[in-house]
Amino acid sequence: MTTSLFFLMWGLATALALPLLVPFHARGIGGVKAFTAANALAVLSLLAYAASGVFPPGVYVIVSNAAWVCSLSLVHIGVRQFFGMPAHVRRTAGLGALCVLAFALMLYARDNLGGRMLLFSTYTCAAALATGRVIFQQRGRLQTRGVMLYLMVAIFGLAALHALRVAVYTVGGQAPASMLDPTPWGLFFIVCGAVTVPALFLALLLLVQTSLSEQMQAALTFDSLTGAYSRRSILDELDRELRRCKRVDGRLAVLVLDIDHFKSINDRYGHAGGDTALRHYAQVVQRAVRASDRVGRLGGEEFVLLMYDCDPARALVQAQRVCDALRDAPLHLQGVEVPMTTSGGLAVYQAGDTADGILARADAALYRAKQQGRDRVEMAWAGRTAGRPLPEGLADAMAEDDGSATREGAESTV
Ligand code: GH3
Ligand code: MG
Ligand code: MG
Repeated sequence: MTTSLFFLMWGLATALALPLLVPFHARGIGGVKAFTAANALAVLSLLAYAASGVFPPGVYVIVSNAAWVCSLSLVHIGVRQFFGMPAHVRRTAGLGALCVLAFALMLYARDNLGGRMLLFSTYTCAAALATGRVIFQQRGRLQTRGVMLYLMVAIFGLAALHALRVAVYTVGGQAPASMLDPTPWGLFFIVCGAVTVPALFLALLLLVQTSLSEQMQAALTFDSLTGAYSRRSILDELDRELRRCKRVDGRLAVLVLDIDHFKSINDRYGHAGGDTALRHYAQVVQRAVRASDRVGRLGGEEFVLLMYDCDPARALVQAQRVCDALRDAPLHLQGVEVPMTTSGGLAVYQAGDTADGILARADAALYRAKQQGRDRVEMAWAGRTAGRPLPEGLADAMAEDDGSATREGAESTV
């Protein structure tokens, strides 16, 4: 009776993840249906033992063992589906079916408790190791490292527990005993199982939940068309970087970029052609800049490049590199080479800058680049957000005062 209550508690603890997995079915995430079915079968397996007083052993033993084998097979299939790997359904189902057949023979043909226990734990250990291997290989697919670690502890913990059980009942010399009439070792395995099995399903739930929230985070962080940072995330990053510059008196260069005559690409090759051009542009810019710099799409065909810890001279060289790279990597649309050029406005951080202020200066410089014939970069005037030239002589005076102001103050066309 007491052991039945143990199994009831274990079964109910395992059921905790079940109602939380169901809502994820509608999201179309690979493997979720297999995880849900696996969880339901694991609960059935445990409740069958809890109901041992109601059903004869010929029923609850086979129901429990078959449900457990199917549950582990489904966890394996689900994990492979989740990571977009071939599920190997037939192979896994075939192995599971053979295992269930062996259970039936060891129950109905000749009752062999020891054989059933060894088969049960060997299958559990092998299935958990195979699933754990997949999870270990794919551990980099989730950014939240703790979740993968939790999942690996749960699955390898289950494998280790059943490996120990095999060892205890073979080389350990313990006589096999029914789980319903447990020896101290039997009780130890029940208690450890009551922790690892619910933990496994909670870990799978966490895997699904975390992967979904990482996908949503990525959708907010990156522009879906070009893969550049989204407007929101690049402006947040600019704010953060300006605060850092203020704190440590750091350096930052902001280059606002706009594709030249982009409308004509749309007009000639259609909106889809324009979209291809935008993707091409983002790739070229990304390749032309330092890996540490960030490219974001402000909207339409306007982008922004944040160059960290970059002095004005170096920022100008970088900006020039972007223009050159685009000229050197022509786009092909409908079999035609489509030349693309870009203009840019460059502003560098100055004390007291806000995101709006530095962007306004870069925008004004961009406007000048467009006016002066496009396919070039203009540098913003220091200390002004309207982008109008400084009164004559003032730039020179600033040059004498401060070298960095000279570089910013002097209008430079690249
Ligand atoms: P300029 O050299 O002065 O910048 O000229 P432009 O033609 O590049 O600029 P304009 O502002 O006249 O045109 C921008 C066009 O970009 C208009 C708009 O339809 C198009 N556009 C904006 N967003 C998208 C998009 O996501 N996809 C496509 N295909 N076109 C877009
Ligand atoms: Mg444009
Ligand atoms: Mg524009």
